[in-house]
Amino acid sequence: MGGLLRYGIPDFKMEKTHIDRRLEQLSAEGVHFQCGVELGLDIKINDMIKEHDALILACGAEKPRDLDIEGRNADGIHFAMDFLPQQNRRVGKEMLEGLEEITADGKHVVVIGGGDTGSDCIGTSIRQGALSVTQLEIMPAPPEREDKLLTWPNWPLKMRTSSSQEEGADREFSVLTTSFGVENGKVSSLNCIRVNEKFEKIENSEFVIKADLVLLAMGFVSPITDRIFKDTEVSLDKRGNVLADDKSYKTSLDKLWVAGDMRRGQSLVVWAIREGRQAAKSVDKALMGYSSLSD
Ligand SMILES: Cc1cc2nc3c(=O)[nH]c(=O)nc-3n(C[C@H](O)[C@H](O)[C@H](O)COP(=O)(O)OP(=O)(O)OC[C@H]3O[C@@H](n4cnc5c(N)ncnc54)[C@H](O)[C@@H]3O)c2cc1C
Repeated sequence: MGGLLRYGIPDFKMEKTHIDRRLEQLSAEGVHFQCGVELGLDIKINDMIKEHDALILACGAEKPRDLDIEGRNADGIHFAMDFLPQQNRRVGKEMLEGLEEITADGKHVVVIGGGDTGSDCIGTSIRQGALSVTQLEIMPAPPEREDKLLTWPNWPLKMRTSSSQEEGADREFSVLTTSFGVENGKVSSLNCIRVNEKFEKIENSEFVIKADLVLLAMGFVSPITDRIFKDTEVSLDKRGNVLADDKSYKTSLDKLWVAGDMRRGQSLVVWAIREGRQAAKSVDKALMGYSSLSD
């Protein structure tokens, strides 16, 4: 439980005592946790459905967006979620369990992606002793002030700077990485070009950034469902999330509900909490015929 909260979000942004406290409370209320069990690998979904009256999936949306360009397989290029959990384990005094250590110490780091995950990579890299941290974003820089006259459905964008970015990252907007420079099997640079608002390459705007460590933080595409649903079919939406509406949270399979990022795609903690509560209410209704739980 709380995989992303414990192993994705760094301790400097959220201390893990909050999760420990909530786990203790849930255990005391009678929730039984089984860690180290993967649905689809250690246990089959059909068996789970058969053995229970209701099953709610809340497996997140963990499939990262990749950058399939020349040099991608070089050493030193990692998904953010291969890098961040290692630091959370170190801080939590957990073993890395034979994982290849990834650290930013003494390295020129480039983070590709300008969202929350990218910010977490910046803050972690700076704490590990990176020589420099550059963050690349393909979108244009938002305006310093939002356009107050903009109306729905347009979203008034505004330049935001996270505390991690304030700690010293160089931010570059409207940049596309075209290939990785590789020396002796290791990443050594990024070949980049500037793009316009339509993501078209701007002529003669190529430039090179030195890099010893590249962290890919370009968002998450969908939940990882292949293994879970290998023996049984469930309806997915067009983005690959498990299909269910936000009233019933019921999937196309009997006795199976879904909530959180696995249903809505990678989102925010507040949404995951709300969806969990509403899904619980829907299950309560299905089992009891009514529910007195609040929304
Ligand atoms: C690096 C990072 C930083 C973020 N920062 C913020 C932030 O600052 N603020 C914010 O609001 N949100 C943030 N988010 C998003 C937030 O963490 C998620 O929206 C939220 O955790 C989703 O909750 P969830 O319960 O749906 O899924 P998750 O929290 O992803 O939990 C899914 C759980 O299911 C487990 N699981 C997956 N597959 C299986 C399986 N087959 N069998 C058994 N277990 C499985 C996972 O290990 C995990 O423990 C961040 C996300 C990332 C990656």
